[in-house]
Amino acid sequence: MAYHPTTILSSNSKTGVSLNLPIKGHCRPTKNCAKCCYAKSGHTALPASQKKQAWLSRYLAGKDITELIHEARLHTAVRISGTGDLSLKHIPNMKLLAKSCPGTVFWGMTRKIEIAKALNRIKNIKIMVSIDSSSPEEIKKYKGALCWGPNLPQDEVPKQKNIITVFPYHRSGRVVNNVKRHPKDCKAVLHEIPGCLSCGRCWTWK
Ligand code: SF4
Repeated sequence: MAYHPTTILSSNSKTGVSLNLPIKGHCRPTKNCAKCCYAKSGHTALPASQKKQAWLSRYLAGKDITELIHEARLHTAVRISGTGDLSLKHIPNMKLLAKSCPGTVFWGMTRKIEIAKALNRIKNIKIMVSIDSSSPEEIKKYKGALCWGPNLPQDEVPKQKNIITVFPYHRSGRVVNNVKRHPKDCKAVLHEIPGCLSCGRCWTWK
C-alpha cells in the first residue's frame, strides 16, 4: 500500500503544528546554518520523519491538497518549514492553502528570497528571510522581514529595524554559553514562555 502519513501537519512542542520539509534538495544553508542545523539530529532526522518530509514535498507540489486544507483550518497558526525549506514548485499550493484557510496564519522562515517574495503578498502568509553572520551580503540587504539565527557567541546582530526575531544558538534545548542576549531574542528558546502561540512575534509584523 502506498505510504500516507497519519497527519500531514507535524506537531512541535514549541511551534505548535508545522509543515516539515526535507533538508536535502530543499535547503540553501549558509555555513553557520549547516553547522548548527537542528533538523539534522533528534526525532526530525529519524527515517520515519524523513519519509514524511519527502512525502510532503511531493504532496505540496501535487494536484490535490484538500486533506491539508482540512487539517490546517483547525489551527490558528501553522509553521512553514518546521524543517527544511520550501521550493518554488510549492508556491501555487501554498497560495491555495492560505486562501482556503482564512482563519489560519502560515508563518516561518526561508533562506530563499524568491520564496519570501512569492508568498508575502498573501495576507495570511508571513515569511521572514533567515540570515546569519555567514550569509552572503546581498541577502543581508533584503528589505523585507528578516530573522537572525543561529546567533553565535562571536556574533553581533546588525542594527536593522527589519530584523524581527533573533534566535540564540541552542543545542539540546539549552542556549550555548556566551551567546549575547538581544532584545529581540525568541523567548521560547530562552524558556521564558511555553511556545509560539503565547507570543506570535514571528507572524504579527507588518
Ligand atoms: S519569537 Fe515568538 S513566534 Fe517567533 S519563534 Fe519565538 S516564540 Fe515563536
